[in-house]
Amino acid sequence: MNSNLIARMKTEKYDNVHFFHDDEQDLTAVVAIHSTKFGPAIGGARFKEYENNDSAITDVLNLAQGMTYKAIIHDLPHGGAKAVIIKNRNNIDRTAFFSKYAEFVDSLQGKYITAEDSGTLNSDMHIIKKRTPYVLGTGLGSPSPSTALGIKQAIVAALETYLNKDLSSSTIAIQGIGNVGEELCKLLTNQGAQVIISDINASKVAEVSKKYGAKAVSPEEIIGQTCDLFAPCALGGSINIRSLDILKAKIICGGANNQVYTPDLYDILHERKILYVPDYLANGGGLIKVAGEYANEPEKKIREKVENIYYKTQEIILQSLKQDCSANDIANKLVIARLTNKN
Ligand code: NAD
Repeated sequence: MNSNLIARMKTEKYDNVHFFHDDEQDLTAVVAIHSTKFGPAIGGARFKEYENNDSAITDVLNLAQGMTYKAIIHDLPHGGAKAVIIKNRNNIDRTAFFSKYAEFVDSLQGKYITAEDSGTLNSDMHIIKKRTPYVLGTGLGSPSPSTALGIKQAIVAALETYLNKDLSSSTIAIQGIGNVGEELCKLLTNQGAQVIISDINASKVAEVSKKYGAKAVSPEEIIGQTCDLFAPCALGGSINIRSLDILKAKIICGGANNQVYTPDLYDILHERKILYVPDYLANGGGLIKVAGEYANEPEKKIREKVENIYYKTQEIILQSLKQDCSANDIANKLVIARLTNKN
């Protein structure tokens, strides 16, 4: 991986990558800063187990680049970065552990601003805030509800523009009902959509299914459900060659980052006339919220920006239909043009 890391830093133009370790807390973290061209880089801290160190480094590099794309597509004055904290054991003292992580973040002097992500809690952000100002999510709370609202807006735009349907006539399958997936289930069922859910946590599935009247299926069954739209809201890579062969939905639009396992699948999706709404377009609501907190914007203004994801998604899908290419291509071109523009 070492040479791979250096090669990727060169070809994909990462600003810098930082490695941290503390023996006492058994804490290993990697912070990848992809770009600070448009401002300080914001990105969540993911705390999870990894098969090996290489997969943690690959994850943080992919996620950091995705954050740059997300900030640009949503016109935010920020760059992209991400932190991965490798989970070595379950029994940690969260105060001591995240206080040490805060020292790492502080040492980057504001080039990287941390936030909540999969595996970290809003209460962890409050612990971090005691040691460094470079953390978001303590003022306006968790970004997850805004992420879910933005995905709902993208879903409505995709259903209307691509299938000429609205929520009340649609069936949506959600994979993963954690912070984002559960809130999304609530928003969709409130507007009359039929929702099918799955999670590896069976008791959570039973609880959410009862609360919102969603149909529950097993994790293995969710991708093959007859539905209009598949919303991946667990972890990345769920769109792969095997899952594509059983997918029945005509649209993919969800919250997980890096949903498509390998880049060649974007063309296959387009050939099969499956609309893939780019993850960084649909799931930008949380970043919009924490960027709004950073800029001291009123909550009403932040919500309007999140709701605007509807119009951005609609515009990108219309362009893709006009140019007969994927929505992913259109969005990527917009981002790369801004990233490579000298001004
Ligand atoms: P979370 O950890 O709260 O929820 C993820 C859920 O997915 C968990 O309930 C987990 O049990 C479930 N899961 C894991 N593997 C699964 C599988 N194979 N099948 C079904 N369910 C499975 O995370 P979250 O905050 O809800 O985020 C979900 C995804 O959205 C993540 O990929 C995250 O990076 C991305 N995302 C989150 C935010 C945010 O604001 N929270 C913002 C942007 C992107």
